[in-house]
Amino acid sequence: MNKINRVRFAPSPTGYLHVGNARTALFNWLFARQKKGTSILRVEDTNVERSQDKYEKKLIEDLQWLGLTWDEGPESDGEYGPYRQSSRLDIYKKYTQKLLHKNRAYYCFCSKEELERERKTALAAGKMPIYSGKCRTILQDKAMERIKAGEEAVVRLKTPGKGTLEFNDLIRGELSFKLNLFGDPILVRPNGLPAYNYAVVIDDHLMKISHVIRGEDHIANTVRQILTYQALDFPLPQFAHLSMVMGEDNTRLSKSHGATAVDQFNKDGILPSALFNYLALLGWAPPEGKEVLTQDEIIDLFDIKKVSRSGAIFDYEKLYGLNRQHIKKLSPREKAEMAAPHLHKAGLLPDEMTESLWKWLEQAVDALIERVDRFSDFPAAFSMLFDFSIDKMGAEEKEILQTECGRKVTLTLGERLLDEAEFSYDVLARISGDIKTETGCKGKDLFHPIRVALTGKVSGLALDKFILLVESGAGLDFPTPLKNCSTRVSEIIKKIYGF
Ligand code: GLU
Repeated sequence: MNKINRVRFAPSPTGYLHVGNARTALFNWLFARQKKGTSILRVEDTNVERSQDKYEKKLIEDLQWLGLTWDEGPESDGEYGPYRQSSRLDIYKKYTQKLLHKNRAYYCFCSKEELERERKTALAAGKMPIYSGKCRTILQDKAMERIKAGEEAVVRLKTPGKGTLEFNDLIRGELSFKLNLFGDPILVRPNGLPAYNYAVVIDDHLMKISHVIRGEDHIANTVRQILTYQALDFPLPQFAHLSMVMGEDNTRLSKSHGATAVDQFNKDGILPSALFNYLALLGWAPPEGKEVLTQDEIIDLFDIKKVSRSGAIFDYEKLYGLNRQHIKKLSPREKAEMAAPHLHKAGLLPDEMTESLWKWLEQAVDALIERVDRFSDFPAAFSMLFDFSIDKMGAEEKEILQTECGRKVTLTLGERLLDEAEFSYDVLARISGDIKTETGCKGKDLFHPIRVALTGKVSGLALDKFILLVESGAGLDFPTPLKNCSTRVSEIIKKIYGF
């Protein structure tokens, strides 16, 4: 095992995995894989009100779906476990005693109301609300007496309150912070549970984390954490803060921009390899500009030092473009299998899939694949084949059918179809010559009515593919039957021309 490169992804199981966190997980994972290091999954579940087992389970499932598996974690205990913070409470307690003993931490009895009052007064005076440090002077014996008497207390870290703190960030370079802007952070809450900023330091140290790679929303926390490392005499890891993932309007990505949960992308039919590829490009660009990359290529090329400092815009179109590229690498059967659940859900496929249905589906998916961004778009794309209704036909189409050529061409086509035992694109090619001669209609006056009479639409799939699919599908057992070409033309003749 490599002790030098150990990274961790430390989600709080308080919600579903969203793309911002997934990118953090991915960059940690890439860093570890590339450096032949170790990746750790640590569940930060000390917020008892908000943490739920179902979220932890789902987080792990979503990470696995994306292809991110961990060397150490709650499911595969390594030598630095347990990897769930709620199972490490005794460890934190031991360090709290040390800090209190060394006088680097103290009990604070200020009530929420008192702190809120101070906060408001500071804000009203145009100052940053920073804890005054009022309880620092309470002697420990006195504090213990008050606690024994039933008073509630938190434990706070004693910080310098002046001077500057500097650290080097792998992505952002040298950073410097004025310590008078940081009050004494809470280490332990009144319920005895450690605050995030405290548990994270002890865990990162004991788990021998060498590089802490996380979102830049944690930069101020890093300052508080470094002060805690110093108080505990722990060596510092290397920090790398990733820029935030933004929506196209440059505000932090949220549901108002579209899907943000990894699970939603999965449900929408984005391939995990495409999302993996896209997330890697959020703030990082491969050196040679080639963007459609496999997992192995990304591991090879990725460089945390080349990750951009500016916010990464989540571009849905780009993700869909990559998805299409990754879909192309699938076999016809794999594509059909990805599309099938969406078509089943939309009631377009029967529960029982026969081999002939699978074969037909492979061809249909192949014909329509260029028209979809995600597999969830297939039911809409299938309407091109299944939705043939004169009542719902568009005005433009109806107009075409009612022109003189429209009428003559459709009626002649209907007649000729009666003579053909089997219809195909080759048959159409043959008979359209005859229709042209018989009706005297040519060019778009010939082809538009033919297209509308067969498909119900003035534009859409190429006719060779369309005819093949509806003719071969018409004999199959779909929940809504697929009409073949002669049924379509007869319906038009009956409903539009009244024959
Ligand atoms: N549990 C924290 C979060 O989900 C972890 C942050 C960190 O990586 O330190 O934001």
